[in-house]
Amino acid sequence: MQALTFAGKEIIEFSTVKDPEILKPTDVIVRITLAGVCGSDLHVYHGRETGLDPGTVMGHEFTGIIEEAGSEVKNFKKGSRVLSPFTTSCGECFYCRVGLTCRCIKGNLFGWVQHGHGLQGAQAMYIRVPMADSTLLPLSNDLNERKALLLGDVFSTGYFCADNAHITPEAVSVVVGCGPVGLMAVTAAKHLGAEKLFAVDVVPERLALAEQFGAIPLNASMMDVKEKILNETDGRGADKVMEAVGSDKTLRLAYDLLRPGGIISSVGVHTAPHYAFSPAEGYDKNITYKNGRCPAHYYAEKLLREGVPQRYPIEKIITHQFHLKDGARAYEVFDKKLDNCIKAVLLTE
Ligand code: NAD
Ligand code: ZN
Repeated sequence: MQALTFAGKEIIEFSTVKDPEILKPTDVIVRITLAGVCGSDLHVYHGRETGLDPGTVMGHEFTGIIEEAGSEVKNFKKGSRVLSPFTTSCGECFYCRVGLTCRCIKGNLFGWVQHGHGLQGAQAMYIRVPMADSTLLPLSNDLNERKALLLGDVFSTGYFCADNAHITPEAVSVVVGCGPVGLMAVTAAKHLGAEKLFAVDVVPERLALAEQFGAIPLNASMMDVKEKILNETDGRGADKVMEAVGSDKTLRLAYDLLRPGGIISSVGVHTAPHYAFSPAEGYDKNITYKNGRCPAHYYAEKLLREGVPQRYPIEKIITHQFHLKDGARAYEVFDKKLDNCIKAVLLTE
């Protein structure tokens, strides 16, 4: 089959790889109909996340149709339409039971193979999904496929970010970063009742979308964001800061914008060995810091059940689509934000 594979720093290749096969009776093979390119793929692309085996199929966001189901799969059969969280989960271990499905003891991240172990990714024609019954979710005909794709990762992650910030209507809240994840955090924070919500970025088109989604846009290249937030809060700082970038600079900004006793909720993937604020600074502000990988299965299931994605035009963040064969270009356009790209998806047909 054809797939986009990792071939080294900033090299994505359209290659022919082995077709995935059922290895265990709980596996399924999904024929991918839509795959996403995610900000997390850029960490690998730029070599900030190291250790991925060259030749690994990239990507962890997808929707598709079951092509083949193992003999023990109960919830899906050939032809079922599905959406998928970006990690697999068993549904039975301690972490799955408490809703931290991203830390399932048997779970793996799609598109991550290291020393020959792990799972191939979704930027391909087909993908093998282990523990299919507890990993995948049904994609009903009344749910737009693009919303379903976002639910498997960035919408769930944005929601997790806002949920961890304990949004309340009276709080002054800030989202740092208006990429796909930050824009979904804006939507989720509004859904959870945020009234005074600021969104920070440096890209005008992304800020314009944040404004459409209900935030007050702040362009960090044109103003002193800290001064602005202090002015808006009688000099205290924001009650909640949601960090959706994954850099030292933005984590430091999150700390600087926060009032004593406030909450930083960070979902950016950080690869630095130390926090951008010291333990002493954390102490001096009585901060609560929440972070980590989103339990996307838990959130996708909850949000589907509550009918949340249907209520918001979240698919507006998908500005570009490419055929799989043009995947290298899709990475370049998404990475360099060419042609005002916010999020790119890949079609297999
Ligand atoms: P993205 O790269 O498209 O978006 C990042 C945004 O931050 C961009 O719009 C950029 O202009 C802005 N930005 C960068 N530096 C800035 C600065 N100094 N000040 C203001 N704005 C700045 O990525 P994305 O797809 O939105 O993902 C965001 C982060 O979330 C990434 O680190 C990604 O790996 C991570 N992520 C985490 C999870 C999780 O489970 N925790 C899941 C998905 C993605
Ligand atoms: Zn992702």
